[in-house]
Amino acid sequence: MSDCLFCKIVAGEIPSRKVYADDRIYAFHDIAPKAPTHVLVVPRRHIGRLADAGAADRELLGDVVAGAASVARDLGLEHYRLVINNGEGAGQTVFHLHVHLLGGRPMAWPPG
Ligand code: 5GP
Ligand code: ZN
Repeated sequence: MSDCLFCKIVAGEIPSRKVYADDRIYAFHDIAPKAPTHVLVVPRRHIGRLADAGAADRELLGDVVAGAASVARDLGLEHYRLVINNGEGAGQTVFHLHVHLLGGRPMAWPPG
């Protein structure tokens, strides 16, 4: 999508601190980290939010989650949390599906 921030980051039109990339996913450091490690993992293909993902996107969703676990392993994180905010009321501010990988500090449960 031409006006999507994360599509522009994936395309390299807006700079980001890349952590991992392959032909399906892109991972980069969050600009306003909420934990010592805060990486965003996104599909290269635009999906607005998790609820927009269809049956044909299942493999890609698996790639995003497995990619986040792989990044966590590469960064030496043993304990971490993955978060997907779906919709404004859940805290979603960028409408290109992304998994937050948060680590490096204790995580409260349940989340606020
Ligand atoms: P959401 O609130 O949609 O779940 O998460 C969006 C995340 O994107 C936020 O944690 C925010 O800090 C991050 N973010 C917003 N704009 C940029 C940007 O231009 N670059 C990077 N690297 N992260 C961004
Ligand atoms: Zn997008």
